[in-house]
Amino acid sequence: MSKLLIVGTVAFDAIETPFGKTDKILGGAATYISLAASQFDVQSGIVSVVGGDFPKSFLQNLNDRNIDTSGIEIIEEGKTFFWSGKYHNDLNSRDTLITELNVLADFQPKVPDNFKDTDFLMLGNLHPGVQMSVIEQISIRPKLVVLDTMNFWMDNSLDELLEVIAKVDVITINDEEARQLSGEYSLVKAAKVIHKMGPKYVVIKKGEHGALLFHNGNVFFAPALPLEEVFDPTGAGDTFAGGFIGFLASTQDISFENMKRAVISGSNLASFCVEKFGTERMVNLTNVEIKDRLKQFKELTQFDIELS
Ligand code: AMP
Repeated sequence: MSKLLIVGTVAFDAIETPFGKTDKILGGAATYISLAASQFDVQSGIVSVVGGDFPKSFLQNLNDRNIDTSGIEIIEEGKTFFWSGKYHNDLNSRDTLITELNVLADFQPKVPDNFKDTDFLMLGNLHPGVQMSVIEQISIRPKLVVLDTMNFWMDNSLDELLEVIAKVDVITINDEEARQLSGEYSLVKAAKVIHKMGPKYVVIKKGEHGALLFHNGNVFFAPALPLEEVFDPTGAGDTFAGGFIGFLASTQDISFENMKRAVISGSNLASFCVEKFGTERMVNLTNVEIKDRLKQFKELTQFDIELS
């Protein structure tokens, strides 16, 4: 079984959508990524940090899903990373209201010994300095390193972020962030510019409009499943990334053809994440539901056409 190491925030979120508002609920990039990846046959572990205010029961919930949390440092006297966001009416765009780094501000990650030879490395959203430190602690180059990031780090730590981008195989990024990073409006041109920064594969997430996978002049498009109701998009991007790398790690095949399946797998899981607030839908998701929806994805994208 492949080992998958996930780095990212484990957080409290306060979310406002047109359908409602939450007080602090559990969130964070590594939380969503690991919940998605736990749907696959992989041995996964998280590197992150939380404060003494973080409920131990949630770490236990992750352990119950075979996610190793020994790499989550608990700083008893500190406060957990906190993020608050408000979605616009179309749910495709949001404003960040608050980002409190708290314990993340001085975090020195420590990769547990049993993950220093990880096969797959998912650098989820958090400080690029932390992402780099994790790369440096891995003793053997993983089969695949995937990076996810966001505009916050482009605004605040661009030089460090560019150093990390140069070291990864795949970057997953949303459309607005791809434009910001590359300075190009066209996503095709943006992907070309980002390729030159290092990653051989560029995945651009477009929310309810699906995702694009670019590699070597080839492009693959996966739609998002048209849903009657989207309740809360928070974590959809991370869930996508977790489904993407979880699929690749479990199949142990990093060819472009298999990456296409991985993009569908990520889109499939993300379609569940948005149906409830926070992680609620992901913690109750069954294998049967996942398979049923994959069938819908297949039907949505298959067609026959006479070419002559
Ligand atoms: P997504 O909706 O997939 O972009 O991810 C939302 C998650 O990202 C939330 O659960 C937040 O806790 C987390 N998050 C928000 N801002 C940051 C940031 N600057 N660094 C790391 N994680 C963040």
